[in-house]
Formats: sequence, C-alpha cells, structure tokens
Amino acid sequence: MNAPDPRPIRPLPEILINQIAAGEVVERPASVVKELVENAIDAGASRVDIELEEGGVRLIRIRDNGSGIAAEQLPLAVSRHATSKIANLDELEAVATLGFRGEALPSIASVSRFTLSSRRAHDEHGSALQIEGGKLGEVTPRAHAPGTTVEVRELFYNVPARRKFLRAERTELGHIEEWLRSLALARPDVELRVSHNGKASRRYKPGDLYSDVRLAETLGEDFASQAVRVDHSSAGLRLHGWIAQPHYSRASTDQQYLYVNGRSVRDRSVAHAVKMAYGDVLYHGRQPAYVLFLELDPTRVDVNVHPAKHEVRFRDSRLVHDFVYRTLKDALADTRAGMSAQEIG
Ligand code: ADP
Ligand code: MG
Repeated sequence: MNAPDPRPIRPLPEILINQIAAGEVVERPASVVKELVENAIDAGASRVDIELEEGGVRLIRIRDNGSGIAAEQLPLAVSRHATSKIANLDELEAVATLGFRGEALPSIASVSRFTLSSRRAHDEHGSALQIEGGKLGEVTPRAHAPGTTVEVRELFYNVPARRKFLRAERTELGHIEEWLRSLALARPDVELRVSHNGKASRRYKPGDLYSDVRLAETLGEDFASQAVRVDHSSAGLRLHGWIAQPHYSRASTDQQYLYVNGRSVRDRSVAHAVKMAYGDVLYHGRQPAYVLFLELDPTRVDVNVHPAKHEVRFRDSRLVHDFVYRTLKDALADTRAGMSAQEIG
C-alpha cells in the first residue's frame, strides 16, 4: 500500500511563529514580568514600577524611566528577531545586556492584549502602539514621561491550553515576587515598586550593592546578620556576595541565588561546588544559603543556551567549579578560625 501524498509544506503565519516562541519564553505571568523588567534595566532605568492585577493574569503594567523608544521604532520593538542590543556574532559572544534575542515583546504581544508606550527624553511627546492577539495597530501620540510603559492584559486570553495551566492568584503572585527578590538582590541600584490589585505591596528602595539593606529586605535579618562577605578574584574570575554560615542552613534550596555576569541562573556545577565547599559541616540533607555573583569575561560564557536564559554554559566549567569551591572553602575556614578565636579571646 502506498503512503498518502504528503501535505504541502507552508511557512507558518507570523502570529503563529510568535505564539510558538511564546511557548518557550512565556510560561506564566512571572516570565512576562521578568522579560519586561529586564528590558527596563537594559534601557538604563533607575526606577521600575510594577503594577499587577489578579496575580498578573489580568494585568501587568511595567513603567520605567529608561532610555525610551523612538516612535518610528515601536513596530520594530515588537517584531520578531529585532533588537537594539546586538548586531553581529562578535557582539552576541560578548553580550552584556540581559536581552539579545529580540523575542520577548513579539511573543508576549501574541498571547495578550498588549500596549507599548514610550518617549525618549528629548521627544516632544510620547507614542503608543497597541497589539491585540499579535495584530499591530497604528502608532499614535500618547502623553508619557520619558521612559517606557508596557501593558499586558489578559495573558493567554487567546491560548486556552496555556490559560488552563495558570494557578491561583496567590501562586502566580508568589512566582512574581520570588523572581523580583532575585532581581532586587542583583540590582540594588534600581528602585522597584510593586502594587497588586491597587495596593502598594512591595518597595525596594535604591541602595548600594554591599549596604546590607537590600540583603535584609529581601532575605531577612536572619540571613543578613550572620552572612559572610566573600570577594575573591583569580585567573580572570571574580566571585563575590554572601554565604550563610553552616549553622544557618535550610531544608531546601530556596535561598540559593547565583548570578553570572549579573544574570540570575541555575547551574548544577556551581551549586555542586558550593555544596562541596561546605562539605560535612552541613547536617545531612540541609542546604546552604547564598547570594553569589560570578563575574568573568563574557566571551568565556555562553548565555545563548535556552530561550528563557535560565542557564549558561562555561567554556571552561572545570576551572569555574574549582575556583568557586576553593574560594568558598577558604572563606568558610576563615569564619571557623574567626569564631574559635572569638571563643578563645
Ligand atoms: P531584546 O530584549 O532581546 O532585545 P525584546 O523583544 O525584549 O528583545 O525587546 C525588543 C527591543 O525593544 C529591545 O532591543 C529594545 O531596543 C526595545 N525595548 C524593549 N523594552 C524596552 C524598554 N523598556 N525601554 C527601552 N527600549 C525597550
Ligand atoms: Mg528583552
């Protein structure tokens, strides 16, 4: 028997392409908040306002005081694979911004009722562009302070299969808050203000990286009061931040924050190195707590591993592993030496 004739091959419509990409980048309201706040930070914002309704499912509105976007560029900002952040392979390999794929806005816009409004500092007035289910409207004048506002209403309103996976308002809000905590730790220089259902819910005041204020604000006094400062460089690698003393261990990995060149990532090899550095001073099954920033030349790490950029790939992962292990092992040995000196003295 002959196989049936194949169906003709056709290019997918633009909107469907964006919705497929949204499947990878936009899992839930927290992923939208992540992409939009990262855009604000890439635009040099010093303040970001995050307005949420119903756990972000009904509304996410993010306003920043960053560079803004020229009116005639608004349609490009929401076009797939259009970005101001890289222009060639060399720039991709050395990328220092959080974004670079040019996918977030078109993806989000394809699964929501979306408005982008913006104004550059020297523009006479702002402009706005509305997109509904991926269909572009006209660019129209709109009053706006210098900076950008992105409004995302009714996420997944046109993708029932996705909407089904959304959880209760509290749960979705929890995911957003957890992500904002991780961002707040990395960028204490940026003021973040959050409101939920019309009520101010959180404010991260701007401060310095090592002021300890943000640390206590985000992870609590208990963590901040005993955490040990780490800052060590060697062979072009720098590791800095805080690690908890062994007596402050956790039942889960909920207070493990790792950043590679400012990007919050999960990395099994680094997590393993940290765990090893604690060794058997941690009780069985307990997890260390830490906020660690690893910095290295951007060409030594590939950030283009996953569309949501939760992971990176080190060119020399063995070297990174050993550096993290050594640095933390020494830091922990110092705290023990310091503690016994105190006990003696
Ligand atoms: P990417 O961040 O990977 O470049 P996005 O789809 O997130 O892709 O954004 C597309 C472009 O729109 C960005 O490269 C940037 O030029 C512009 N843009 C997006 N958000 C902002 C913002 N908040 N402020 C200024 N420009 C922005
Ligand atoms: Mg982006």
